[in-house]
Amino acid sequence: MTEYVTHEHDVLIIGAGGAGLRAAVEASACGARVAVISKSLLGKAHTVMAEGGIAAAMGNVDDRDNWRVHFADTMRGGQYLSNWRMAELHAKESPARVRELEAWGALFDRTRDGRILQRNFGGHRYPRLAHVGDRTGLEMIRTLQDHGIHLGFEVFMEHTIITLLKAGDRIAAGFGYDRERGRFHLFRAKAVVLATGGIGRAYKITSNSWEYTGDGHSLAYHAGAALMDMEFVQFHPTGMIWPPSVRGILVTEGVRGEGGVLRNRNGERFMFKDIPPLYVNQTANSEEEGWRYTQGDKDAKRPPELLTRDHVARCIRREVREGRGSPHGGVFLDIAWIKERIPNAAEHIKKKLPSMYHQFKQLADIDITQEPMEVGPTTHYMMGGVRVDADSQMSDVPGLFAAGECAAGLHGANRLGGNSLSDLLVFGKRAGEYAAVFARENPLGEVNSQELGLAEKWALQPFERKGSENPYAVQHKLQDTMQELVGIVRREQEMLQALDHIRELKAASERVSVDGNREYNTGWHTALDLHHLLTVSEIVTRAALERKESRGAHFRDDFPTKDDHFGNSNIAVRKGTDGEMQFRWEPTPAMREDLQQVIQEMK
Ligand SMILES: Cc1cc2nc3c(=O)[nH]c(=O)nc-3n(C[C@H](O)[C@H](O)[C@H](O)COP(=O)(O)OP(=O)(O)OC[C@H]3O[C@@H](n4cnc5c(N)ncnc54)[C@H](O)[C@@H]3O)c2cc1C
Repeated sequence: MTEYVTHEHDVLIIGAGGAGLRAAVEASACGARVAVISKSLLGKAHTVMAEGGIAAAMGNVDDRDNWRVHFADTMRGGQYLSNWRMAELHAKESPARVRELEAWGALFDRTRDGRILQRNFGGHRYPRLAHVGDRTGLEMIRTLQDHGIHLGFEVFMEHTIITLLKAGDRIAAGFGYDRERGRFHLFRAKAVVLATGGIGRAYKITSNSWEYTGDGHSLAYHAGAALMDMEFVQFHPTGMIWPPSVRGILVTEGVRGEGGVLRNRNGERFMFKDIPPLYVNQTANSEEEGWRYTQGDKDAKRPPELLTRDHVARCIRREVREGRGSPHGGVFLDIAWIKERIPNAAEHIKKKLPSMYHQFKQLADIDITQEPMEVGPTTHYMMGGVRVDADSQMSDVPGLFAAGECAAGLHGANRLGGNSLSDLLVFGKRAGEYAAVFARENPLGEVNSQELGLAEKWALQPFERKGSENPYAVQHKLQDTMQELVGIVRREQEMLQALDHIRELKAASERVSVDGNREYNTGWHTALDLHHLLTVSEIVTRAALERKESRGAHFRDDFPTKDDHFGNSNIAVRKGTDGEMQFRWEPTPAMREDLQQVIQEMK
């Protein structure tokens, strides 16, 4: 057996975003020896980019808010496909997780009387997002790092795990390489937590950074865990669209929460034209009422710009398709208009949305305090992921846990903005705690040396091949395919075509070759990432074909309405013993009666 750099820990955490760091904090506090692995430098995970805030029903700005309203909002937003137990835990526990973050040093924006300030966001009935301007993720990561560093977990930055190894049924290790030197590392552990984030890089236009190639989803799937809800990919309605080099970069929903409005090229606030039945009772009847809502009038209802993301994204697409789009194929998002309503509007906007101000000034030469932004949908978030037990976050594979964006359950068919950061805190903590318990009760598993040898051989193949395929070209073709054929609006014929492309691209990925040596070879890294990207892309496409209806983020042009027949089931996929993907419809578990009552009350 080749000598690898070998590490041994109780708990191995793959991912150093909010979910991974919160899990590491908890597992360490429970006395476990913990390793955290991250593809990029510590502090650079996706979470750092989060802008708008953390959803938690603290009721600081509107005392009518409580966990029951948050629970009902989350279930409604997820079109009742969310795991109700996760939605319950999330709504009940997120306020404590936010206060804990504050106690560890996070400096949130404040109300006049010194409490954590909360802002409006799409789909949340009351102002609920604890925030730090529009840089909330940065503060969250900084706080978790500062706090965690004193607990003594080991961090392996710029390391990538390429496969999980098992001892019998149970998880035993992660195997990967360090990006700088290209050496292989074996991380043996009694429990493993996946916290690898999303899959956005499977698409061409995305708010996600280079790291989000669906690794955790694919690692879990190939290790035998079930994935769920993979047809539900969230397209955020407002990404930058111009200039082309910045296309996809997120424009936070916080802009709309602060009073920003959407208009088409004729200046019309088109969102008033189409209010979904589930939200009719909660949506403003006039522009005037919508404005009052954003300014904290408790008697007003939310403006239609703050409807759920799936709906807003589709309305924007409709405006563009019907010829009412902006010059570069989007619509206008206008926050500058608030100068008609409040004095010192420019200063107010800069204070509330500092990153947005700088982003547009520097990248597009637009001053958002004076002129509207051009925006359009961008691939943003993955609702689907590893199916986990709601309380412990353990997957079907004993000892393998998942939390954050790579886990499924909380968000169902559509995530509400702000519910991801709270998800990371609530379920990151739970995953860390239960992984530490699992590690206490189980010894290290033995790694099969033959399997290890095969993994190494597979990883080195791109250097040995004299093939003609370039890894970047294959990745770009895949991104085009997913964008064009499995995007915001889906049709059977196009998705079947996408499957053909994916099949061809899989074959191409097996001919990919790379030059140079193993030291910081990004071509090699991309060649290895292709395996994950192709796995998740195929699963997304097949699941989307299965769901012959439109629900939440999944819109089928050939089945444009919701169908009750599919309304009580999730789609799960696992790898069969023959290596093929096996899809299964699984009925959503019956909701506890007291929670059903909450839903009824909040209608
Ligand atoms: C621009 C932007 C703004 C957002 N704003 C908000 C917001 O205001 N509120 C909100 O609730 N949500 C927001 N979101 C969503 C939210 O930020 C993410 O869903 C969340 O941060 C994901 O956190 P995570 O811990 O699951 O994973 P991430 O933060 O994505 O971290 C994943 C980690 O896994 C590591 N990793 C991945 N694969 C491997 C591998 N193979 N080996 C080793 N390490 C690996 C990565 O290096 C990284 O460290 C926003 C997202 C974006 C893109």
